[in-house]
Amino acid sequence: MEISLNALLNNLNFYKSKLKPGVKIMAMVKAFSYGSGTFEVANVLQYNKVDYLAVAYIDEGVALRQAGITLPVMVLNPELSAFDKLIEFKLEPEIFSFNLLDEFVKYAQSHHLSNYPVHLKIDTGMHRLGFEEQDIDTLCDLIEENRYIKVQSVFSHLVASDAKEHDDFTKKQIKRFEKAFTKIEKALGYKVIKHICNTGGIIRWPSAHFDMVRLGIGLYGIDGSIAPGSNELQPIATLKTSVSQVRKVVANDTIGYNRNGKLNHNGKIATIRIGYADGYLRAFGNGVGKMLIKGKLVPTVGNISMDMTMLDVSNVDVREGDEVIVFNDKLPIEELAREIGTIPYEILTNISQRVKRVYFYE
Ligand SMILES: *Cc1c(COP(=O)(O)O)cnc(C)c1O
Repeated sequence: MEISLNALLNNLNFYKSKLKPGVKIMAMVKAFSYGSGTFEVANVLQYNKVDYLAVAYIDEGVALRQAGITLPVMVLNPELSAFDKLIEFKLEPEIFSFNLLDEFVKYAQSHHLSNYPVHLKIDTGMHRLGFEEQDIDTLCDLIEENRYIKVQSVFSHLVASDAKEHDDFTKKQIKRFEKAFTKIEKALGYKVIKHICNTGGIIRWPSAHFDMVRLGIGLYGIDGSIAPGSNELQPIATLKTSVSQVRKVVANDTIGYNRNGKLNHNGKIATIRIGYADGYLRAFGNGVGKMLIKGKLVPTVGNISMDMTMLDVSNVDVREGDEVIVFNDKLPIEELAREIGTIPYEILTNISQRVKRVYFYE
């Protein structure tokens, strides 16, 4: 998988241009930066002065620190058992429940920490993590004059920022969020960073940028709220592999495991080096998925194997060793996602660690 760090930078600058001066950017680098690689991506982001990074788990934050990343890092889903590491590596926890708040304050107290930066998550409708509307007064009582923590930010998450049909719900979420952070700031007596927009929200909800936005999938070149074909965003990843063998088959020969594959004409099959263990999901088998060889779109034949896939190359002049494009700017990840009824996030984050990442930066 080739990763263009120039494209990454282009995308970062595109979103930056959509923000009012002073609005900060938190770059989401969870799940190995959506499959693109932790250190290389984070390093470019750090060099280009994003304000914050966010990861899902403490271990992901530790990996960033060990790679030399010094930006503040928020951990979305910290587990009690790893608080030692959280502190050791100066990671900032999201606090989403009374239990977590209580545990963290107790930990801070017993380890003589004070003013430790934390981020409060408000549930405005996602119903995943966070304090609900009826919790806010109690929350305010608990954090008021609490010297163990310093509330760095208060945030929430939009469930459908890019979906027009849910715009009324999005507005409701933003209202609930405003109500919650107003109370919290009043109780604290100081200003916090407020943020609710993910990628979809940056373009569609400029009035809700508040103090910071959380940029995820758009950084990697994918944003459903931007008209397809506009070249403001650049996909950062190209996945390519090569042909191991080419053979002739006659009509009705069966191809691959369980005899599911078949051509209805005499033709040619290319076996290529990628399988479901690489993240090319089995759902792409039997003609559902398509790849590019020499600029021609060719379908899969039969079931995807663990390490290999067969393609119908009857109409292409193909040799062993030829390059095969799984996705790139001409065969976008959005298209692969459509083929198997999923979302681009899942395609990207499924590319396994076996697939070597190669970085380009001019
Ligand atoms: C992953 C995540 C984001 C980024 O979402 P995108 O749609 O990729 O921009 C933002 N906020 C939270 C809480 C997330 O978990």
